[in-house]
Amino acid sequence: MKPNTHPVYNPVTITCACGTAYKTRSGRNEDFHVDVCAACHPFFTGKQKLMDIAGRVEKFKTKYSATAEKAAASKAGKAAVKAKAEKADKAAEKAPKAKA
Ligand SMILES: [Zn+2]
Repeated sequence: MKPNTHPVYNPVTITCACGTAYKTRSGRNEDFHVDVCAACHPFFTGKQKLMDIAGRVEKFKTKYSATAEKAAASKAGKAAVKAKAEKADKAAEKAPKAKA
């Protein structure tokens, strides 16, 4: 090998979220973590599993619930505005008659 041209290729430990650890070599030169590996990936285990990394389902639910609340609040607000407008119309109808 020609010196000073190749990256450092040190032994590292890759740790999966399921707890499995693999000792290998890498140019990263530091131990690192992965979310899924051959020991726990549904393709290899044959079991369907909900991949909820970093609480994506919870994130979606909170986002959706916020949207639903907003929609409900918006509907209520529109109804209130409509009721106010109707009141104002009635008041406007009454006002000219009072003057005349
Ligand atoms: Zn794993």
